[in-house]
Amino acid sequence: MADPDAHLSSTLDVGGALIDRAAVVGCGVIGAAWVARMRLRGVDVRVFDPELNVGVVLDEVMQQAVVAWNGLGLSTDRLGSLMVCESVADAVTDAELVQECVPERLDVKHATLATIEAAIPRAALVASSTSGFKPTDLAVHMEHPDRLIVGHPFNPVYLLPLVEVVGGERTSLGTIDRAMAAYASLGMKPLHVRVEIDAFIADRLLEAVWREAIWLVNDGVATTAEIDDAIRYGFGLRWAQMGLFETYRTAGGAGGMRHFLRQFGPALEWPWTKLTDTPSWTDKLVGTIADQSDDQSGDRTIAELLAERDQNLVAILKALEAVDAGAGKTLAQLRATQR
Ligand code: NAD
Repeated sequence: MADPDAHLSSTLDVGGALIDRAAVVGCGVIGAAWVARMRLRGVDVRVFDPELNVGVVLDEVMQQAVVAWNGLGLSTDRLGSLMVCESVADAVTDAELVQECVPERLDVKHATLATIEAAIPRAALVASSTSGFKPTDLAVHMEHPDRLIVGHPFNPVYLLPLVEVVGGERTSLGTIDRAMAAYASLGMKPLHVRVEIDAFIADRLLEAVWREAIWLVNDGVATTAEIDDAIRYGFGLRWAQMGLFETYRTAGGAGGMRHFLRQFGPALEWPWTKLTDTPSWTDKLVGTIADQSDDQSGDRTIAELLAERDQNLVAILKALEAVDAGAGKTLAQLRATQR
């Protein structure tokens, strides 16, 4: 398959993004962070959110994003403009890319997509940030489903480069190509999810780890803090630079993946995991997890934790860039195309 990042060098010689005007519908956690990434790439963004304090949220997230990009050594001097609109129609009317970021409810997504579709130019791309709905299911009522994709990002969107691009049964190939190019031009790493499945690739993996972690707390085996330590002092570091399969290849020694599979493959049949099952969400379990999480984070506020998260991600991204590995490669390409 062609490298989607190839678009970066071909389309961004003059700097900036492939699109000039975007709209973001729904500006909570994800929408506000999309707005920040787009504006940092010089895209003019119009937004709509029914919440009255949307301007405050957008300002806060923009400030976090500017601190993060400055930490990466990227210029934040030439931001795209921001316009907060009174309706979805006002926000999307002139957009080349509309990023839908409303709550994860199919009925809300359907209603929002219908309003978007009624007001956009025919050539506009429509992308849903959904974490798990298939684009075919999102598009059931659309008149022009050929232009809908899922563009599933990862939080914080202004720092993490991955965006999963998923087409539905009626999405055109041209739409997927254009979306891949547009996201690459925003300094992202678009990953085309070729087979349409619920929750795509990354959330499938995360869900498996999350389910197992909940079992470990439920059974009193480990606390939330101990599980987080097991990840961040060990395999989390390996995953950030090489992922899963290439890491395991190295674990097979000189024999590589074949030796690794012969040695550890049978372990999958041992009763190590409970991956097909979930504990019941009793009040007791919810309370245990929430209490342990309170103990773990102590007095640190959510704002402090977000700042710590961004600072750590900036350090990791810069370290990976220095050795030309993983997400550091995407950062290097973004840096090369900054104005
Ligand atoms: P959120 O609750 O933080 O934000 C949703 C926003 O949508 C709110 O500001 C709300 O006021 C607004 N809204 C509600 N109804 C609306 C409408 N009819 N029109 C316009 N705006 C409306 O939720 P979120 O976490 O930002 O999630 C949004 C989408 O992004 C979901 O589909 C979610 O699955 C996806 N997503 C979330 C994450 C994450 O880490 N939070 C990651 C990837 C994808």
